Amino acid sequence: TATTAARDTQIFDLIAKEQHRQESGIELIASENFVSPAVMEAAGSVLTNKYAEGLPGKRYYGGCEVVDQVEQIAIDRAKELFGATWANVQPHSGANANMAVFLACLQPGDTILGFDLSHGGHLTHGSPVNISGKYFRPTFYGVERETGVINYDVVEETAKRERPKLLICGASAYSRDWDYARLRAIADEVGALLLADVSHPAGLIAKGLLNDPLAHAHIVTTTTHKTLRGTRGGLILMRNDFENPFGIKTPKGETRLMSSLLDSGVFPGTQGGPLEHIIAAKAVAFGEALTDDFYDYAVQVKANAQAMAKAFTDRGYSIISGGTDNHLMLIDLRSKGLTGKLAENTLIKADITINKNMVPFDDKSPMVTSGMRVGTAAMTTRGLKESDMEQIVVYIDRVLMNHDDSATLLTVKEEINEWMKAFPLYKS
Ligand code: PLP
Repeated sequence: TATTAARDTQIFDLIAKEQHRQESGIELIASENFVSPAVMEAAGSVLTNKYAEGLPGKRYYGGCEVVDQVEQIAIDRAKELFGATWANVQPHSGANANMAVFLACLQPGDTILGFDLSHGGHLTHGSPVNISGKYFRPTFYGVERETGVINYDVVEETAKRERPKLLICGASAYSRDWDYARLRAIADEVGALLLADVSHPAGLIAKGLLNDPLAHAHIVTTTTHKTLRGTRGGLILMRNDFENPFGIKTPKGETRLMSSLLDSGVFPGTQGGPLEHIIAAKAVAFGEALTDDFYDYAVQVKANAQAMAKAFTDRGYSIISGGTDNHLMLIDLRSKGLTGKLAENTLIKADITINKNMVPFDDKSPMVTSGMRVGTAAMTTRGLKESDMEQIVVYIDRVLMNHDDSATLLTVKEEINEWMKAFPLYKS
């Protein structure tokens, strides 16, 4: 550890401030969570010093005997957790995992079909500002205006019209489960590969609380830091490996397996040396996720989301699709005469963190938006239960209905800071 003299007080004081912020407020950003001290310890370990390009047992650097074991454990635990036969644990992030898949499966200019960003999809599924939308031809499906739910007949029609090489499902702000079997049937009908990006609900999927994407999708990607409660990072999985349909051969003339193309898609395709300290932290998190305690956690995340959705609905808030199957919900604030920007900026004054979010068919810009997205993964980690979700919604409503009244905002903030002392996060 650094000596006191060598300690960079400028940065470490800021880290202490951030810890205080995290501990004293209510964290509802659906993509965030709080990792365990063990995950953090692994992420901050000496493994950060090691170069290990390649895969366990096949490295381009010496001295990899220990990190080989670490990475192999991470791979084995990821496979066990999701019932996969193959995993690559090296992607630095969810975006990197998707990029590696695109590089393995597509040629520049190929058509991809993903879930519309403005309906809850992710930037890496074909947005024009992302490489996925710049190097490939992006097409989209969305939700229905009346229901806020995906109509798979429309997805099928769109796929037949656009003939994508890759059909992508998964989202950042969709509160309903996915019909992976139907999507696979659509992919097969048009000769596409199906990629399920389960970054958000991965922890719930791992515990069998949502439909199983690995049973149907050719390839599954995820982040490791949302409901899965690991360090920030990415992961690629398959249950059934298969010969690549692109005719790419090994030097010996054998058709390369998809797993081999995906491994190459990560390194050397889109990344250099893997972050072995982060891979160790992923392994620790996967180990935690394999426990029965994590099952109880995942059940509580869902129960909390349902309690929160009911509390919002009871107070006249409009939830896109009318409810939630997972850990998050998207609230249309137009019925309350508010914007997402105003909600985000006001709630933070009371130490409640949410993010503004476009709602389907939004008439406002992405910097303003008509919605807010909230999720229960982080507060469930802190130990909050259903009745606490109701209390959170009471606070949110009080703040939003009094957004001009700084005295009320301050009172709510003080009450929240006091309340959060009952849910300690990390020993300092
Ligand atoms: N895919 C989905 C569906 C996501 O929600 C996210 C993150 O929000 C990502 C990919 C990207 O993950 P990262 O931020 O780790 O690159």
